Amino acid sequence: MKFACFAGDSDPRLGLVDEAAGVIRPVTGAKDMVELIRRYDEIKAGLPGDAAALPLASVKLLAPIPHPARNIFCVGKNYLDHAREFAGSGYEAGAVKGAEIDEYPAVFTKPASTVIATGDIVSLHPHVTSAVDYEVELTLVIGKGGHDIPAERAYEHIWGYTIVNDVTARDRQRNHKQWFMGKALDTFCPMGPWITTADEVDPENLDVKCWVNGELRQNANTRDLIFNIPTLIATISAGLTLEPGDLIATGTPAGVGLGFNPPKFLKAGDEVSMSITGLGTLTNRFA
Ligand code: MG
Repeated sequence: MKFACFAGDSDPRLGLVDEAAGVIRPVTGAKDMVELIRRYDEIKAGLPGDAAALPLASVKLLAPIPHPARNIFCVGKNYLDHAREFAGSGYEAGAVKGAEIDEYPAVFTKPASTVIATGDIVSLHPHVTSAVDYEVELTLVIGKGGHDIPAERAYEHIWGYTIVNDVTARDRQRNHKQWFMGKALDTFCPMGPWITTADEVDPENLDVKCWVNGELRQNANTRDLIFNIPTLIATISAGLTLEPGDLIATGTPAGVGLGFNPPKFLKAGDEVSMSITGLGTLTNRFA
C-alpha cells in the first residue's frame, strides 16, 4: 500500500493512495505518519473504502514524513560507477578522498529541516553555492526500531520505501572537508511522493532513474548497491537505536551533474524528476 501525507484545512492529513485510480482516501486514527507506522497493524484493519476517495490531483501532497524526528541518515558512494565519477571530479572532500570502494560505508546525515515535498521549489542558495547537484536515492523507512540489528533480520525493521533527492552543494561538500555542509541547506531534501509499504517492494531489484528537464541522467538498479540494505541497517544500528520513522537514503548511482565535463550543475528553472520502480515520481523545480 502507498501512504501519503497531504495538506488539510488546518493540519496535515494521511491518505491511502490508489495510483491507478488516481485517488487518495483519507486515513484516520493516527495523527501523523510515524504514529501510523507505530500502530500499523491496528490501523490497517480499519482502512477506508471507496466512499471517501478524493482525486489525487486535487490535493497538495506533503513529504510523507514532513518533519522527521531527527536527521536523515544517508550513505555516500554506494554505487561503483558513481564512486568513480566522484573520485575523478575534483569535488571529493578530504576526509573521505581516494578509494573508489571503501571498507566501510560512508554515512552522514541531512538535518530534518531540509525536507520538502514533491512539487515544492528547491532553493539554489546562490549566495552560498554555485554547484548544486541532484542525487536520486532509494530511501528506507524504519518500522520496528532496534539497535545492533543483525543483517539477516534487517528487513524485519523496514516498514516501507520512498524516494529522496539528496540535493548537494558540491563546492561546500569539497570546501568544508565533510559532507554535512553541502547537504544541509534548506529545501535540500525533496522526499516522496509517498511511502510504499515493504510488502509491495522488491528492494534488491528496483530501477532508479532521474531526469533533468526531461533528459535521462541517472539510470541504474538497486542490485548494484556496493553495501546492500541489510549491511546498511546492521552498520547504522550498531550501538545506535533506530526508531520508527527513521529514514536511510541508500546512495545515488552515476549520472549526477559533477560527473560531466564540464559539470552540469542545476540552474534556475531546471526541473528534476526521479522515479523508482513502484515508488512513484518525485518532481521539483529549482529556483
Ligand atoms: Mg547521496
